[in-house]
Amino acid sequence: MAVPQNRVTRSRRNMRRSHDALVAGNPSECPNCGELKRPHHVCGACGHYDSREVVAVTTEVDVDEDAA
Ligand SMILES: [Zn+2]
Repeated sequence: MAVPQNRVTRSRRNMRRSHDALVAGNPSECPNCGELKRPHHVCGACGHYDSREVVAVTTEVDVDEDAA
């Protein structure tokens, strides 16, 4: 099993972790529905991209108990 040759000090450990912070996304408003969406991605709320619907969004899922 590999064993560290030298102890990593608090200073070096913290310096390494200085780049580990998560950064917030850059959400933009959907021009169709106004929901916040990720840039260059299809809107998750209405399925629009570039002012046209590219993904059909179902508002209600009809679960048929007998069919299954
Ligand atoms: Zn939208």
